[in-house]
Amino acid sequence: MRDESPNSWEARADAHSFYGFTDLPSVNERGAVVLTHGQGPYVFDVHGRQYLDANSGLWNMVAGFDHPGLAEAAKAQYDRFPGYHAFFGRMSDQTVMLSEKLVEVSPFERGKVFYTNSGSEANDTMVKMLWFLGGSEGHANKRKIITRKNGYHGVTAVSASMTGKPYNEVFGLPLDGFLHLTCPHYWREGREGESEADFTARLARELEEMIAREGADTIAGFFAEPVLGAGGVIPPPEGYFQAIQSVLRKHGIPLISDEVICGFGRTGAVWGAETYDFMPDAIISSKNLTAGYFPMGAVILGPELTDRLQAAADAIEEFPHGFTASGHPVGCAVALKAIDVILNEGLMENVRALTPKFEAGLNWLLENPNIGEARGKGLMGAVEAVRDKATKTPFEGHLSVSERIANTCTDHGLICRPLGQAVVLCPAFIMTEPQMDEMFEKLDAALRTVFKEVA
Ligand SMILES: *Cc1c(COP(=O)(O)O)cnc(C)c1O
Repeated sequence: MRDESPNSWEARADAHSFYGFTDLPSVNERGAVVLTHGQGPYVFDVHGRQYLDANSGLWNMVAGFDHPGLAEAAKAQYDRFPGYHAFFGRMSDQTVMLSEKLVEVSPFERGKVFYTNSGSEANDTMVKMLWFLGGSEGHANKRKIITRKNGYHGVTAVSASMTGKPYNEVFGLPLDGFLHLTCPHYWREGREGESEADFTARLARELEEMIAREGADTIAGFFAEPVLGAGGVIPPPEGYFQAIQSVLRKHGIPLISDEVICGFGRTGAVWGAETYDFMPDAIISSKNLTAGYFPMGAVILGPELTDRLQAAADAIEEFPHGFTASGHPVGCAVALKAIDVILNEGLMENVRALTPKFEAGLNWLLENPNIGEARGKGLMGAVEAVRDKATKTPFEGHLSVSERIANTCTDHGLICRPLGQAVVLCPAFIMTEPQMDEMFEKLDAALRTVFKEVA
């Protein structure tokens, strides 16, 4: 399988690059996949092998890998003004225009934007904004942050503390004051005989009890992805956001929608909050924001948080926060183009047009006796492998079933991502129907092969 010569790309990758979020035994055996270029939703490796990327990079390359308009927007801005910061009352014209655009396409009637280089930093920034507000408004201990188990909010010390994954224990995280509720996954967490509506009501009660236990005056905010992404593509149970928001409103706790994956079309509307019909107090955006063509994140504040943050900053004559590359002109020019491409070049229409076919494909995979659940929303989905469908018993961990499925897919020219015992699909918005057929057929073949091996 792997090219063993000492100067191979695989050996060179091993020698000097540290792999993040990678199954190391797997890469040891198989070698890294070193990529050179892409075309539409396909990528190509150093050996000339072609792969259909069913994950659009890391959820974000929604316009494919060779969109000419996006590369041109970057090139034009590099030629015009290749970099600048957004400190000391200066910012690029592109930054001004992107903020106008983001507020225009947001669900807010007015608001303000703060830029970062990633989704993690955007969540970190939002937490610092809430902490700053607490201090400024005379509630210095209003610092606790509530999220959900399996929620993914990033990897910086604060956003990793928000992320409800056990792997963060190796870093001694979460930090104090980061609280995690039950994962809102009805199929896994629902109790015997409990209806979906009852499950939602139980989750709302759990939140109510947490607030009572901790003290409402100690809680700065609640963060949620509309559909949990890296937690395994988990859409909320019926009525979830309405039930949760009514508890939060009662206690004056802001609801922050982490739209890093859902934002800009993934669920079939511009925002996941739109898909699930709730009004957040702020939005976290990244990934699709630039269609993956530039590293960038943004915090978009709704009217109330805008006014409060402005007042807090005015009081000390500064908001002491920012990254060197916040609001980078090239990033902003690329984001402006990406938003135009997604909203006005038919990409969102294609998401909506392909969704029924995508759902049918997931349901087709569910017919497999070792697929316990097929779930998703818009063009994000997952199928979960089980040893026993009736009891939902997972495969033994040492079998690394989803890793094997993903590796078998790679061998057949399909890139998809293992997550726990599930396999994730989140195709580019430019995918065609034949490409979607190719994706499901290759995954189905890999499932059959692996389930036979581990039977
Ligand atoms: C990817 C992701 C993040 C983190 O973004 P990075 O750019 O990787 O730091 C935060 N929240 C959600 C929902 C994500 O999917």
